[in-house]
Amino acid sequence: MSPSTAGKKKTYVVEHMEPEMGAWSTLEYAIISRESAASGSDFYLTSVPASLVSNLPEALKPYVGAPLKVTEEEVTKVSSGERDRVCLLDPRAEKELSPGDAEVFDWFVFGGILGDDPPRDRTGELRKLGYEGRRLGSLQMTTDTAVRVTRIVIEDQIPLDKIPYSDYPELKLNKNEATQMPFRYVRGNDGKPIMPEGMLELIEEDADKSFDDFF
Ligand code: SAH
Repeated sequence: MSPSTAGKKKTYVVEHMEPEMGAWSTLEYAIISRESAASGSDFYLTSVPASLVSNLPEALKPYVGAPLKVTEEEVTKVSSGERDRVCLLDPRAEKELSPGDAEVFDWFVFGGILGDDPPRDRTGELRKLGYEGRRLGSLQMTTDTAVRVTRIVIEDQIPLDKIPYSDYPELKLNKNEATQMPFRYVRGNDGKPIMPEGMLELIEEDADKSFDDFF
């Protein structure tokens, strides 16, 4: 991180927009927590129903307090007073996120939305908050991937087009089944898409469930 932004801690905020917190969201929030802890940044999970705040999924409990802060408050309350330092990551924003944005923003807001294909632009609900928006390229990312890419651009100062991606990867579920994910992922050093641990198993379970529904 460049010297001028070294002091300014970055905060990532996911506005939870699903009615409950299922396994998929939980796995995403766990890896965002882990990666935020590793980079010394904060992670707020906002607009979480009160019943859930006091009864979080087990996988998130180790992170509560540092770096994870879970609240039923909306993102506007949490980042109040600094709205010009808040950036909404929005697939429909005009401008692409760039390393220079680390000087401009300290808060990065994402929709806690399970990606759908084709996207229904549910991020639009957050656009109404009036924050400055930035796009992360033209392909839809999962929430944890969007946070990971933002962190690489802002904290590691690597431009979007220099990040290795894995687009619409095909996942082998078992010897005779594969599924293609309609998302862009960051490609890891092993050449595979970086995904929350447990996600592949979850996808396999879902595939079996849907498979069973048919037969
Ligand atoms: N299908 C949802 C998006 C889910 S992705 C929709 O229709 O809006 C979850 C969040 O990740 C988005 O709300 C956004 O904050 C971020 N995100 C995903 N892909 C992005 C992109 N290409 N550019 C900017 N933000 C993105």
